[in-house]
Amino acid sequence: MNALLKPANAVKVSRSREVEQVIVGHPTSDGAGVKLTRVLGQSLHQRLDPFLMLDAFGSDSPNDYIAGFPDHPHRGFETVTYLIAGRMRHRDSAGHEGLLQNGGVQWMTAGRGVIHSEMPEQEEGVMEGFQLWLNLPARDKMTAPWYRDFQSQEIPELVTDEGVNVRVIAGASHGVEGAIQKPVTEPLYLDLHLPAGSSFVQNIDPTHNAFVYVYRGEVTISGQAVSKQQMAIFTHSPNADGVVIEAANTSRVLLIAGRPLREPIVQQGPFVMNTQQEIVQAINDYRSGRLA
Ligand code: MN
Repeated sequence: MNALLKPANAVKVSRSREVEQVIVGHPTSDGAGVKLTRVLGQSLHQRLDPFLMLDAFGSDSPNDYIAGFPDHPHRGFETVTYLIAGRMRHRDSAGHEGLLQNGGVQWMTAGRGVIHSEMPEQEEGVMEGFQLWLNLPARDKMTAPWYRDFQSQEIPELVTDEGVNVRVIAGASHGVEGAIQKPVTEPLYLDLHLPAGSSFVQNIDPTHNAFVYVYRGEVTISGQAVSKQQMAIFTHSPNADGVVIEAANTSRVLLIAGRPLREPIVQQGPFVMNTQQEIVQAINDYRSGRLA
């Protein structure tokens, strides 16, 4: 268990953002046939800038996950994998290797390019987690690849006065710094465990895009119910200084926010660049062995 921190400062949200749109992810598969739910896809690139993708996966049937994600390339952005349950091994062409398991996070900056694999190290039991794609600013898209994994006990956790357990993956909450801080996009990534009858408040810069994904229970935001397996996108309001999330029943929620880059986004599969020409370059580099 982590040492549970107390809030370092009192947080007050005088006006919460509201829910602009509730989205239900669609079932798909990726890698060598891993079943998953794509919660955030290309149609939300502009609206949720700098976030490019959120996949949720969860199954106790090995057929849904056993094939994993064999060697494949990425260029131009970052991937953040959060494993709630299971064991997954990462290996990449930059020489990084790590075992991600129960509650751990892997943060990979693909930059100019990596080829990596993400393979289950279990043949039975539950595999559950999320992969978030975070864009890089144009000037950093060709940066050197970077990788780090955080075991569960390395992720700062706090408990609010209302008993909400907050795992601070990125950014900061209630004065507690998360495992990762990133300039430019300033991502906030919280995993909230809300007991029945609790509410949670978080200050968020009014210019940042923000959303929640509910993966257990149901929450209410400014009177709008958001159920399990739904994503809610928060409105922008210059007068709103944060969000208030209420849980009638025990619930678990990802709260994610970041500063939009407001740059052109061109995606083709595992490459996300600013122009079509840069995409063609990425494909050529990959085919000729110059990507990694
Ligand atoms: Mn990948």
